[in-house]
Amino acid sequence: MQKRELIFDGNEKQVFATDDPHKVIFRYKDVTLAFDSIKRAVLRGKGTLDNKISAILLGYLNREGIHTHFVELFSEREQICRKIEIIPLEVVVRNRVAGSMSRNLGIPEGTFLRNVVYELKYNNDALGDPLINEHHAVALGLATYDELRRMLDVARRANDLLKPLFERLDIDLVDFKIEFGRASDNGDIIISDEISPDTSRLWDRRTKEPLDKDRFRMDLGNVVAGYEEVYKRLLTLND
Ligand code: UDP
Repeated sequence: MQKRELIFDGNEKQVFATDDPHKVIFRYKDVTLAFDSIKRAVLRGKGTLDNKISAILLGYLNREGIHTHFVELFSEREQICRKIEIIPLEVVVRNRVAGSMSRNLGIPEGTFLRNVVYELKYNNDALGDPLINEHHAVALGLATYDELRRMLDVARRANDLLKPLFERLDIDLVDFKIEFGRASDNGDIIISDEISPDTSRLWDRRTKEPLDKDRFRMDLGNVVAGYEEVYKRLLTLND
């Protein structure tokens, strides 16, 4: 696989073309953003950890029959991914209350939910990624009802696999966000962005400490150490 020109230079990631028209290379930066990009820092080593953690989690989902964009690691900081057409939606999966759900509905963080909650957000920075429903998404021409049904089914199956996987590592998967795209080679709806401590809430079941981006959002310190701990525990799955 040959790396070619830069085709997208994002805040936290870059995407490069390759010699295969249906593959790209994702490169993870150490830049970290929160609160609609208002808070920013460079955290040495965060990019490589996100790359490697996401590779483990997406690789696991691929092997379990959930289609994702991840193909293989290319370097410490880079991975080869299937090329997609972006669907500008985010699906948030919640097992416990945290973050915006706690703020918006006035429910304390950590409250257990009777059922898993699936939220749809319009991925639009200028609007602050507003919460929408399926009918908004179809009316805006972002996806069809059938595509939304498939996305929510993938979100449910991914949670059914990832929640017990993290439990084995003594970590609570409180919530996570996934994005989807249409694969450029066959139009399949696939998970098209990372799953990592940047896009999920991972609480140590023993200490109740977050091991994810909330360490950065809430100025708890040791952000990279939290990510490193998640990576170290994921590596024990191979033991
Ligand atoms: N999330 C994300 N990108 C976003 C917004 C949220 O990856 O643009 C993740 C976030 O890390 C958390 C989950 O989605 O794991 C739910 O986030 P929430 O809606 O509570 O938003 P926040 O508290 O970050 O405002």
